[in-house]
Amino acid sequence: MLKCRYYKKRGNIVDLNESIKSLKGVGDKTALKYEKLKIKTLYDLITYYPRGYIDCSEDKTISDVENDEKAAIKLKIVEKLKVQKIRNKTICRVIAIDKLKNMVEIIYFNNVYIYAALNVGRVYIFYGKVAKDYFSTKITNPVVVKDLGLIPKYHLTKGLSQKNLMMNIKNALYYVEKSQNSLPEYLSLKYKLIDFKTALSLIHSPKNKEEYKIARRSLVFRELLCWQIGLLRLKKEQAMEKAVVLKNLDLEPIIKLLPFSLTNAQKRVVDECVLDCTKEKPMNRLVQGDVGSGKTIVAVLISYLFTREKKQVALMAPTDILARQHHKTFSDYLEKFGVKVSLLVGSLKQKEKRELLEEIKEGEALVVIGTHSLFYDSVIFKNLSLIITDEQHRFGVKQREKFLEKGTGAHFLVMSATPIPRTLALVVYGDLDISVVDERPKGRKEIKTCWVSSKKRDRVFSFVKKQIAKGNQIYFVCPAIEEGTTNLEDVFSYVRLLEKSGFDTKRIGMVHGKMKAQEKNEVMESFLKKEKDILVATTVIEVGIDVKDANVIIIENAEMFGLSQLHQLRGRVGRGDKEAYCILVSDVLNEYNKKRIAVMCKTSDGFLISKYDLSLRGPGDLFGVMQHGDQNFKIANLKIDLNCARICHQEAKEILKEDRMLEKEENKYIKKDVERFFSSDFVVL
Ligand code: ADP
Ligand code: MG
Repeated sequence: MLKCRYYKKRGNIVDLNESIKSLKGVGDKTALKYEKLKIKTLYDLITYYPRGYIDCSEDKTISDVENDEKAAIKLKIVEKLKVQKIRNKTICRVIAIDKLKNMVEIIYFNNVYIYAALNVGRVYIFYGKVAKDYFSTKITNPVVVKDLGLIPKYHLTKGLSQKNLMMNIKNALYYVEKSQNSLPEYLSLKYKLIDFKTALSLIHSPKNKEEYKIARRSLVFRELLCWQIGLLRLKKEQAMEKAVVLKNLDLEPIIKLLPFSLTNAQKRVVDECVLDCTKEKPMNRLVQGDVGSGKTIVAVLISYLFTREKKQVALMAPTDILARQHHKTFSDYLEKFGVKVSLLVGSLKQKEKRELLEEIKEGEALVVIGTHSLFYDSVIFKNLSLIITDEQHRFGVKQREKFLEKGTGAHFLVMSATPIPRTLALVVYGDLDISVVDERPKGRKEIKTCWVSSKKRDRVFSFVKKQIAKGNQIYFVCPAIEEGTTNLEDVFSYVRLLEKSGFDTKRIGMVHGKMKAQEKNEVMESFLKKEKDILVATTVIEVGIDVKDANVIIIENAEMFGLSQLHQLRGRVGRGDKEAYCILVSDVLNEYNKKRIAVMCKTSDGFLISKYDLSLRGPGDLFGVMQHGDQNFKIANLKIDLNCARICHQEAKEILKEDRMLEKEENKYIKKDVERFFSSDFVVL
């Protein structure tokens, strides 16, 4: 095969999927280094976007710059002073002037090379921190910049420098043709986008912020469009399958058994779900509801209807603990109707597991509750017809797809306490319907929330002792597990502190993320059975745990947690009818934390809190998962590009309406990009 390094002639469109080894100066060794950055093909390389820029776009003078400001300044060298050696340091000093004849002293430590390269009488652009005082101006170790502009900064790996990257990218871009990878013309015109090649050239070396902005906008659009097209196609495939149509919609028998009456919101949401399941088109619904709004029972009721018709239901929970809890709830309600509810978790013994898999295959296990283990290929259902995921924001699209494969045309129900703005939900899930449980069960009191400094811990402890004496249970949450280099409270030391403070050792439990699932379960179980009064935990208890007698939660180093996370944690208490308390312990009281604490004390409405969270710090928490690298957009960022995503959602729909298989000539490149996009392990939410 011809290597592209011989393709010197322009006009040959190079396949961007070709290896970077076809570039001049990139051999096996360099290619290996690039692999560490997940760069294998030319396409990977040219879309390896800078993580930021050094702003040298403005030609400033000394007078424009404040003390300690970083700036790029054009300076003419007037004199090179003699190199000095002080101990093991070499000090090179150069006197220069700007265009207003302001004088500057440039100092280099241990860098005779730069010094030697500078010529008296010539003008260079220096970039660095400017130190100004009344008498003089100095710049220490500045970078010499070739042209004014924004200088890209890339994430690097050992053996690859900024310069290497800049050069290789430049070379690679040389092979990209203007027409290559173009979007349909009407889109470029409508949204004023520039072509792929220009956009890439600009993003890798913009002259100014305007160039950067237009380049970014064009690349983001392209990325989000492909993402939406890919998602919508997946959804279409799902929607074309025929789902089980529920016939018997009578919920009375089970509703009669509930120890409480449903809230109006619960009734409404159940109705919405049931209606979906009377159609051949698979249900695809997100049930959103604040912590404690009672989503589980909604899932139980829908599942009940499926079990009446002997159809299988699977419920997937993010943690073992939660799966067990759901197993208990579902069993409590459904076994009265002779329904077998099974628990499939990692900690099962081989034999138990084999038997259970057999029952699932035979369709005897009507309701199967589990964690990720439900994904395994060995789990084969007879007639899986309803799939429920709880707190799904921890699952990726891939996993979800995999799950859907297990039941052709299964109805899909997603439950989440994390409020997602409708617009975001739409673009992230495509055409997902949303129901909101926007009412709390009656009789719930506001959780009394307050802040204290760690100096008042004694008072907190005596309050806790009184609560325990009343038969209540307590959560302590610490940000760290083991004693470490930080000053954060950790669960191990905390347990010791409690023991020293007169709490009964036997009545204290501890859970954290490093424990085995089995151990965690045992502790949770004993807390649930009230063999323990106190549970000292990390945020593993954050999701979904429901212990009725737990009415106090103390969160140590509260400043370490996001608002939405604090709210989730607080939701662990106040689940019964007891007066509940949330005590935030923190000594870090800057303005930001004061505001957050004020919000926590003022409201217990999760939607309001996430709104505040957005306004206080941007959508950080909502996108927590994405920030941890689950979301592998190369350039788009839903935090700032939500609007663009919405537009792309619409345009993607239009494109697919006309050209479902992307066979039209104008969609040729989109098709390639979509494939590229979804062949990687792309995970969304
Ligand atoms: P979440 O929406 O956070 O998942 P759960 O489903 O765990 O909430 O419900 C929280 C608690 O409220 C459970 O103990 C549940 O039994 C109880 N509950 C649910 N619905 C009602 C209701 N309508 N009235 C009273 N208690 C309810
Ligand atoms: Mg729940």
